Amino acid sequence: KKRVVSGVQPTGSVHLGNYIGAIKNWVSLQDTYETFFFIVDLHAITLPYDSKELSKSTRSTAAIYLACGIDPLKASVFVQSHIRAHIELMWLLSSMTPISWLNRMIQFKEKSRKEGDEHVGVALLTYPVLMASDILLYQSDLVPVGEDQKQHLELTRDLADRVNSLYGGRKWKKLGGRGGSIFKIPEALIPPTGGRVMSLTDGLSKMSKSAPSDLSRINILDSKDVISNKIKRCKTDSFPGLEFDNPERPECNNLLSIYQLVTGRSKEEIALECQDMNWGTFKINLADALIDHLNPIQVRYEEITKDPSYLDQILSEGASKAGEIADQTLNNVYQAMGFLRR
Ligand code: ATP
Ligand code: MG
Repeated sequence: KKRVVSGVQPTGSVHLGNYIGAIKNWVSLQDTYETFFFIVDLHAITLPYDSKELSKSTRSTAAIYLACGIDPLKASVFVQSHIRAHIELMWLLSSMTPISWLNRMIQFKEKSRKEGDEHVGVALLTYPVLMASDILLYQSDLVPVGEDQKQHLELTRDLADRVNSLYGGRKWKKLGGRGGSIFKIPEALIPPTGGRVMSLTDGLSKMSKSAPSDLSRINILDSKDVISNKIKRCKTDSFPGLEFDNPERPECNNLLSIYQLVTGRSKEEIALECQDMNWGTFKINLADALIDHLNPIQVRYEEITKDPSYLDQILSEGASKAGEIADQTLNNVYQAMGFLRR
């Protein structure tokens, strides 16, 4: 079976962008592939965070995976920091990562600009190497992510290539390694619509956990009233009617796309329904559609979190299974790189 891996950071709360861009698509992959979905807590410390909240939001993120339809009987669900191999492989990969590659990363540029130089930790720069490690450890074929991760995926592929050509091939076979390559080259799987859900307060920046204003995003666990209020206050424009794909109307395109995705209807149908609609009417429809879509997820979330030991058990089983595969890859890399074996 081909392998799929992906994860979400346990910072703040999981939002509609994470759901539409990533988690929703994981659900449809778990039947066909061997899937690994983890909570990337080690990534969550790359920006200032609240240590009192980290473990709580790690559990909550895991519960959201399950509430969204991830089935622990099919997928391995685990916490990244529970598998030490992620950090170990990262160090090995770091030795082969040119700093110039990392300096080019758009996410680093954007996030470091917002933080100001004094507060930018080394980990924010090296984050994509950890992400490469997350993916390569499991010899993944596909990585379902949002569009913002495309560049990091490219870097992962470049790194895998580099390791394969430096230490793989004939040298690796001579050492007894199976196959010519140490790492499989993974591919990004980015949804054609919904790969980049935009902020509610600015149609030109992506919906983000790390954005300061909660009004900029719909969180999966937002109550009815909160959703209605956020949609009521979200940014619109003063053009007549509503339409997709007008570059002068990024907010309009974003809100229509969200409506399309949560109703599961076709773009044409939505375009037709909304072409002469005013914002007031549309906002009511959109809020209702969001509430209808998220409500069943929230009900399941409540169920799942009632019994903490259920979640603990899933995370522990997931870590055991993932740990075996990760250790095997890590040992191969140590061996190929010439380390003395214990
Ligand atoms: P941060 O702002 O702290 O980076 P985030 O909102 O980007 O948080 P992540 O945990 O970094 O959330 O991303 C988890 C997954 O969700 C990734 O696959 C990412 O590509 C996807 N994703 C994040 N934001 C969006 C968005 N606005 N639209 C679609 N997909 C998104
Ligand atoms: Mg992100």
